[in-house]
Amino acid sequence: MKFNILTIFPHILDSFFSESILKRAIDKKLIKINTVNIRDFTNDKHKTVDDTPCGGGAGMIMKVEPIYKALQKTKKNRKNRIVLLTPAGKQFNQNIAKKYSKLNQITFICGRYEGIDARVENFIDEKISIGPYILNGGEIAAATIIEAVSRLIPRILGNIKSIEEESFSANQPFELEYPQYTKPEIFKVGNKKYRVPKILLSGNHKKIKEWRIKKAKKHK
Ligand code: SAM
Repeated sequence: MKFNILTIFPHILDSFFSESILKRAIDKKLIKINTVNIRDFTNDKHKTVDDTPCGGGAGMIMKVEPIYKALQKTKKNRKNRIVLLTPAGKQFNQNIAKKYSKLNQITFICGRYEGIDARVENFIDEKISIGPYILNGGEIAAATIIEAVSRLIPRILGNIKSIEEESFSANQPFELEYPQYTKPEIFKVGNKKYRVPKILLSGNHKKIKEWRIKKAKKHK
């Protein structure tokens, strides 16, 4: 699966993609990250990507033309989805991540400054927000979506069961995962002892499952 990231900061995510699970997925050619510098699609010597807002107002707006041209370059693939990242978009969630994980290619348009000329909306498939807050740019939003989508692509995670048992998974009788523990059984801080719940050490799988369902409902 290929992810195109249209941005004016093409190196901002380099370290994010050069470690851990995503790096392995890239090395194994299960995913490909293609960063496209929007400035490469400008015509003037200053490589201008922004201008003042029509009608007045604070800040600068990203110009439509370089983004349009950058999109033409990345569009080739038929199962390509073009996503404009904006706080005004539909809120990203696990269901959208599942839908995206079946595509061949997703192209993200990352805004900066006060946002993007609204005419870009004529050339996209959907507007997505990663949450009700304002970031400086769309790059972190793209990285968030790429991480959530990639872990649903077969063979990227070693243990497929861990996806099935995760929060928001359709196979679960609950939405959020139950609280998890590992060794040691007792963790001491001064006189205080923090214990793993006894039921989890009982070996009674039926009871453990019931306990987990009960706890998951309250785990917020
Ligand atoms: N003036 C805009 C507004 O009030 O909605 C905010 C622009 S923001 C500073 C610059 C860019 O960051 C946006 O064009 C968008 O691409 C990205 N961005 C900011 N918050 C985001 C969010 N919650 N989800 C997705 N993208 C976001």
